[in-house]
Amino acid sequence: MESYDVVVVGARSAGAATAMLFARAGYRVLLLDRMRFPSDTLSTQHIHRPGLRLLRDWGLLGRLVDTGCPPVRRISYTVGDVRLEGRVPVEEGIDAVYAPRRYILDSLLIEAAAEAGAEFREGCAVNGVLAEDGRVTGVRWRTPGGAPAEARARLVVGADGMRSTMAGLFGARPEREDAPMTCAYYGYWEGLPAQFEVYERPGRLIGVVGTHDERTLVAAYFPQSEFADVRRSPDRAYLEALRTTAPELAARAEGADRVERLRGTGSQLNFFRPARGAGWVLVGDAGCHKDSITGTGISDAFEQASRLAGLVGDGLHDMAALDAALERYAESRRLLMEPRYDMALESARLHVPDERMDFLRWIASDPGSSEAFLSVAVSHVEAGHFAGSAP
Ligand SMILES: Cc1cc2nc3c(=O)[nH]c(=O)nc-3n(C[C@H](O)[C@H](O)[C@H](O)COP(=O)(O)OP(=O)(O)OC[C@H]3O[C@@H](n4cnc5c(N)ncnc54)[C@H](O)[C@@H]3O)c2cc1C
Repeated sequence: MESYDVVVVGARSAGAATAMLFARAGYRVLLLDRMRFPSDTLSTQHIHRPGLRLLRDWGLLGRLVDTGCPPVRRISYTVGDVRLEGRVPVEEGIDAVYAPRRYILDSLLIEAAAEAGAEFREGCAVNGVLAEDGRVTGVRWRTPGGAPAEARARLVVGADGMRSTMAGLFGARPEREDAPMTCAYYGYWEGLPAQFEVYERPGRLIGVVGTHDERTLVAAYFPQSEFADVRRSPDRAYLEALRTTAPELAARAEGADRVERLRGTGSQLNFFRPARGAGWVLVGDAGCHKDSITGTGISDAFEQASRLAGLVGDGLHDMAALDAALERYAESRRLLMEPRYDMALESARLHVPDERMDFLRWIASDPGSSEAFLSVAVSHVEAGHFAGSAP
C-alpha cells in the first residue's frame, strides 16, 4: 500500500492550499478530489484582504493577476439614499480587491501544490478511512475507472466542503448549529463595468464585483423564509431585487447582457464541527460553514491551511507532537472563526436598523470617515462587516 505523510481530501481553497503548504515543508503529500479540474463551484468570488495577503506571501497573487483577474480599486456601499464611496485601501502593497472565477483560482492552487511536490489525483471519490487502535491511518477511494484504492498517511485532512464525507467518516458531528438565514442567487453580466459595490435594503443585499473575461458578477441575497418563492422563479426574484435595492445599478444593467445561467442556493448552513481527532483534521467549510453573505470563506480556508501547516511544522513524524499541534490548531481555528461566524449571522439577518442609517448619514458627510469605514470591508474583517453591522 502507498504511504504518505499527509493525505488531503478535497482540492479547492482549503485542500489545495493545505497540500501546497505541507508539500513545501518537505512532506510527501497526496491530494485527492472527486471532481476533474478545471472545475467551477457554487461561489461568488471576492477574496478578502487576509486571503490576498496569503496569496501574495505564497507567491501566487502575481500569478492570479496574470490570469487576467482584474484589480478592482474603488468600492461603494449604498443603503437607500445614503451612498459611501472611496478607494480600496492600500495595505502592504496590495491596493485592489480581486474576485477570480473559481475554476481559475482552484486550478492555480492545485498547480502550486503539484509544483511543490504534492501528488494530485482527480476523479477520485474518497469513501472510507483506514484506522488502527482508534486512530485514522489512511483513506480508501474509487479511482476514475471504479477500482478500489487506498493509501496510508500520518495525517488525513478533510477539506471536502460543507457536506463533508470525511467529517462523517471521522465521526465529527456538528458541535454548534444555527438555522439557515438567507438564500443567494448570482449571475454574470457583460457590458456592465463595475467597482466593488454593495447595496442594501431591509430583506435584500446586492453584491457586485468585476471578474475574469470582462464579466461582472452580481449576487442577490434574500431571507431564507422567501427561498420557496425565490426558487420558483429565480430570474424574476433576482431582477426584482436589483430594481428595488440597487435602482441605479439596474438602470446601468439595462444596456448590458446577462451571460451564463443564474446560480443559487438555499443551503446556507451554519455549523461548527470539531476541528481534529486522532490522525485527522478538518479545514475550510468541512469544519466550519457559515452564511456566505460576508464572502470570507476562501480567505478563511487559506488562513486555516496556513495555521495548520505552521502549527504542525516539522512535528508530523512525532505522534505526541502532532496531536499537540492539532489541539493548538483547533483552538486557533476557534479564535479565528467564532467572530467571523457571529458576524456572518448578524449580516444574514438582512436588517437595516435606524441607528445604522443615522450612523451612515453621519459618516457620509465626511469623505475621510467614509473611506475609513469602507476600508473595514476589505482590510479587517474582524472589525465588523460594513454591510452587516456598523463597527
Ligand atoms: C453562494 C455562495 C457565495 C459565496 N461567496 C464567497 C465569496 O464571495 N468569497 C469567499 O471567500 N467565499 C465565498 N463563498 C464561500 C466559499 O465558496 C467557500 O467557503 C470555499 O469554497 C470553501 O472551500 P473548501 O475548500 O473548504 O470547500 P469546497 O470549495 O466545497 O471544496 C471541497 C472539494 O472537496 C471535494 N470533495 C467532496 N467530497 C469528496 C470526496 N468524498 N472525495 C474527494 N473529494 C471530495 C469537492 O469535489 C470539492 O472540490 C460563497 C459560497 C456560496 C455558496
